[in-house]
Amino acid sequence: MNKTLLACALAAATFASGAASAATIIPVNMNAPGIGLNDPTPATPVGGNPGTTVGEQRRIAYQFAADLWGAVLESDAVIRVQAQFTALNCSASSAVLGSAGTRQVFANFANAPLAETWYGGALANAIAGSDLAPAEDEISSNFNSNLGQPNCLAGSFWYYGLDGNTPAGQVNFLDVVMHEIGHGLNFQGFYTLNTGAPFSGRPDVYSSFVYDNNTDKTWVEMTNAERVAAATGGGLAWTGDHVLDQVPLVLSPMVELTAGGTVSGTFQYGTAQFGAPATPENFSGELVLVNDGSANPTFGCEPSPAGAYAGKVAVVDRGACAFEIKARLAEDAGATAVVVANNTTGVINMSEDPSVTATIPTISVSQADGAILKAGIPGATIAFEYVPDTFAGSDSSGRAKLYAPTVLATGSSFSHFDTGMTPNALMEPNASADLDATLRLDLTPALYQDLGWQLNQGNGTTAEGTCDTGIKAVEIGGLIGGANLQAADAMCRDVHGSGTAGYRSCVAPFVERLRAQGFVPRSKANAVTLCTRR
Ligand SMILES: [Zn+2]
Repeated sequence: MNKTLLACALAAATFASGAASAATIIPVNMNAPGIGLNDPTPATPVGGNPGTTVGEQRRIAYQFAADLWGAVLESDAVIRVQAQFTALNCSASSAVLGSAGTRQVFANFANAPLAETWYGGALANAIAGSDLAPAEDEISSNFNSNLGQPNCLAGSFWYYGLDGNTPAGQVNFLDVVMHEIGHGLNFQGFYTLNTGAPFSGRPDVYSSFVYDNNTDKTWVEMTNAERVAAATGGGLAWTGDHVLDQVPLVLSPMVELTAGGTVSGTFQYGTAQFGAPATPENFSGELVLVNDGSANPTFGCEPSPAGAYAGKVAVVDRGACAFEIKARLAEDAGATAVVVANNTTGVINMSEDPSVTATIPTISVSQADGAILKAGIPGATIAFEYVPDTFAGSDSSGRAKLYAPTVLATGSSFSHFDTGMTPNALMEPNASADLDATLRLDLTPALYQDLGWQLNQGNGTTAEGTCDTGIKAVEIGGLIGGANLQAADAMCRDVHGSGTAGYRSCVAPFVERLRAQGFVPRSKANAVTLCTRR
């Protein structure tokens, strides 16, 4: 699988010392005529994006993202985001998709929650309630103009649709714009990671919520040398209360494979593409070694006697036939789950076999762990168990982990969520195929609340704020159905004009999608219909 990198290089910063409405975010087109956001190459409308040139599709998607964030956040100061397509680092198999950051930082401005602490321009303005540097744009953002070319993640082109329906192998531009604007809205720290030094002598607000589990110190209280070590130590986590509260709602519970009875310990495991996913609810019991009576009885490639493994978890050796055949034959003999013991080091992720269908959960363990489990039979048990207060992408205290790989990734380390999050998060350093930032921003709005942003408490609106759809702009857990409807209305109105047939046919697929995804309860259906007819 190609993993693609979203970098967030810090832009050069300028310095200054020094109850809101939904934010207005204005893209500032920095490309010269004829290129990037102004590319005149004809294009076919795609995924709800009605643009008819490449440049127009890019501008529409960018504006859509700006309107989504604008509907989620509150600010009395307009946020201006410079945007351009330009050449970014590439190879045939990887690419920097985009980069972004704040263009100014401020400290000790009116209402600043933390003294002597840097805030990015957009956030500082929102907190201050006024534009602290009216002549300056707040954020800059860049997007890779060569994506998909032979030397730049070959064949993986941008997808400009607004429907989250990215074809396999393409890269969703709107998700990347949401991610990059996200950095500019202050999802970034300002320390120099390879020296540990704070930016211009002061800590920054993002870094003030970072904690290192390896030293049990906050980022700000560490020495420069400790920060250099922590940046690659894998122990960084976010301490803010809003994120902490929402981790259990957004991330999957952490489970581990634990043996009991005659065996003890936890074991690494691989998963299967067939059968039910293994969970604490469906995967536990006494282990039994498969014996199908053949010359190689533990391969389990022949039928076993009826009921031979009734109510038990069958252990079977890898080899001689497909994994799913082994699972199906164990299932036929009464097993409730299957452990495949590998015939080499490591665990394997097992593909399905089209000739049979197994429904019970199946996992793999390494050859060495398989030997330990088999030696404990009879009397060994196995189970998936929830790890208390721990989630996929959290530390053992339930705090969201931040990206701190063992090799410093300049522009990615520190200023992202950890890649272990399940489901994948918008602000992980890699663009994941299961993201859909048109509807789900996971923990990022909560992180913004920790930083000092106010979220829009109202509903998504249409017709320039005159029609209340009844759908909350942003909900706990980062769901943004109302913001989506508001952005779709603005886009369709802009392209087709209000009250036109073109407007109604433009906005209808967005409404349908929101209905299908459960964002429009029956009680709000009439309001949504009325608000999207005008
Ligand atoms: Zn990033």
